[in-house]
Amino acid sequence: MDFSLSEEQRLLVATIRGFIDDELRPLETEIEETGQLADEAADRIRARSQALGLYAVNIPAEYGGGGLSVLDWMIAEEQFGRTSDILIRRAFGNVYEILLAGTAAQIEEYLLPAVRGERTFSVAFTEPEAGSDAAAISTSAVRKGDGWVLNGAKHFISDGLYSDFFIVTAVTDPAAGARGISTFILDKGLPGFTIGRDQPMMGLRGTSHVEMRFEEVVLDDGRLLGEEGQGLKLALATLGRVRLAQVAARAVGKASMILDSCLGYARDRRQFGSAIGEFQLVQQMLADSAMEINACRLALWHTASRIDAGDEARGAISMLKVQASEMLGRVVDRAVQIYGGAGYCRDLPIERYYRDARISRIYDGTSEIHRMVMARQMMKGDVGLFDIYEQAG
Ligand SMILES: Cc1cc2nc3c(=O)[nH]c(=O)nc-3n(C[C@H](O)[C@H](O)[C@H](O)COP(=O)(O)OP(=O)(O)OC[C@H]3O[C@@H](n4cnc5c(N)ncnc54)[C@H](O)[C@@H]3O)c2cc1C
Repeated sequence: MDFSLSEEQRLLVATIRGFIDDELRPLETEIEETGQLADEAADRIRARSQALGLYAVNIPAEYGGGGLSVLDWMIAEEQFGRTSDILIRRAFGNVYEILLAGTAAQIEEYLLPAVRGERTFSVAFTEPEAGSDAAAISTSAVRKGDGWVLNGAKHFISDGLYSDFFIVTAVTDPAAGARGISTFILDKGLPGFTIGRDQPMMGLRGTSHVEMRFEEVVLDDGRLLGEEGQGLKLALATLGRVRLAQVAARAVGKASMILDSCLGYARDRRQFGSAIGEFQLVQQMLADSAMEINACRLALWHTASRIDAGDEARGAISMLKVQASEMLGRVVDRAVQIYGGAGYCRDLPIERYYRDARISRIYDGTSEIHRMVMARQMMKGDVGLFDIYEQAG
């Protein structure tokens, strides 16, 4: 059990931090004001990230990705958490591993261009009437000849305006429940496929979240991703690691950055003749945040190591999703308090961090749903979740 970072891991962290501090964070204020990242800036940061070897680090090297272990990927994602959602998407790619389940032709047409940064895609599962209950979707794909006809609607689909294809869930066998759902790859621009409104959100400025409609969209058989009826299973098998990365690891990185900023402010800001960091009630807030971040980081590294060792770690991923997103909420709430009025004022980014953090407890499965998954895993005897000594036999 060695918790020290290797030379390569230190270099990875330093390279990402330097890139984010020098080239990404300076773009954040403008994105917040205009609501968008200019295409020219998006191309520039992607090219720079590719030159540094930081694009699609989660995808195996044989497909052109970074080929990082899950632990190293989480260490990288922690650093990504130091900037905003849209900048992470454009600079580091958002290449979901679900495409690794594709056929050779799908890998050629979709995965490889995504890893090269030539194509962008999103996952579209949620519907107005089916959010947490992902098996209750009504989008349907009906067999017709040697293809499919898709009808239905999705909403809240992140990055939908920029993406040029989507992984979409649809019911292919209404009698089979959760086993009657399949995933398809849909190219933007197909007849009958409409991208609707960009739904306004509390935070995450710069990232679009769209409604979409499918009206008699004709798909050839080559658009079915994975096996028919295995769509939800495929999503569950591949999106867990994404949750660990995009929610838990980024929350740990974001919270660390926010705590650093609070420490600086607590040293500099003076009231009653003292730095506010000298007041014990402020010290308690700093100490509580440090304790919580530390606990989450160790749990993250432990879970990542378990996955690298071949464990699915489903319960532990759910635990981290809840633990880290709720930790971030408390850390950023304390940050607003420590900064006082300046924390609430838009002149500083603290209020933005507060708004942006709120979604972590909702998307990629709400805290309530992940608590249920955790408890179910525990009832099934997923001992690694709460007693690692059990693993020693
Ligand atoms: C900014 C943003 C980005 C998103 N990006 C995407 C995306 O890219 N792709 C995509 O497919 N989806 C995306 N989503 C959708 C997101 O995953 C869902 O919003 C989320 O899963 C919750 O579903 P819901 O909003 O329908 O809430 P509901 O499922 O209606 O839940 C409402 C409340 O009821 C609770 N609840 C529901 N069922 C239970 C239960 N059994 N027990 C206890 N409590 C329960 C929930 O925890 C929640 O508190 C995004 C959403 C947002 C807001």
